[in-house]
Amino acid sequence: MRSPNFQNIDTSIRMEEIVTCSICMQVFDSLHLIPKMIECGHTFCSPCLTKLFQNNPSCPNCRAEIKGTESLLPINYNTLKVVDIYESKNWSESEMDTAAEVTKRKDMILKKKAQMTSSIEVFDKCLAKLEKLTVSESERIDTVNVKRILKEVDEDLKNNR
Ligand SMILES: [Zn+2]
Ligand SMILES: [Zn+2]
Repeated sequence: MRSPNFQNIDTSIRMEEIVTCSICMQVFDSLHLIPKMIECGHTFCSPCLTKLFQNNPSCPNCRAEIKGTESLLPINYNTLKVVDIYESKNWSESEMDTAAEVTKRKDMILKKKAQMTSSIEVFDKCLAKLEKLTVSESERIDTVNVKRILKEVDEDLKNNR
């Protein structure tokens, strides 16, 4: 049987959520941080559950009441299986996909950056135009149409929010 091939970062994030105890943020294992399921269906590690039973016997995820004792809770074997896959060699070999995901995000950021740079240019031009309008009435060149320039500046601001 082939191990599943995880295609993208989204899968890896979701997988990390499954294999991590959401209380202590540590990855489950079969020796100490055993994933145990409580009645509501949520899973936490056994040390966290032991503390939970002592202090506040309710599920941190959904606040459902938890009964009994930690030792009686069933082990979540499905979670342990996912931990196996997560830590298997196959998993760390999906580097090519990671590279693609990184490139995708880099491109997005560079595009945004280019947009910002062009906005800065537009803003500089707007400031220069406004500067022309700040000279006194007598110094102003006759052909300068104040209303038109102000309107242009308004348009630029609207398009480069
Ligand atoms: Zn824990
Ligand atoms: Zn719950």
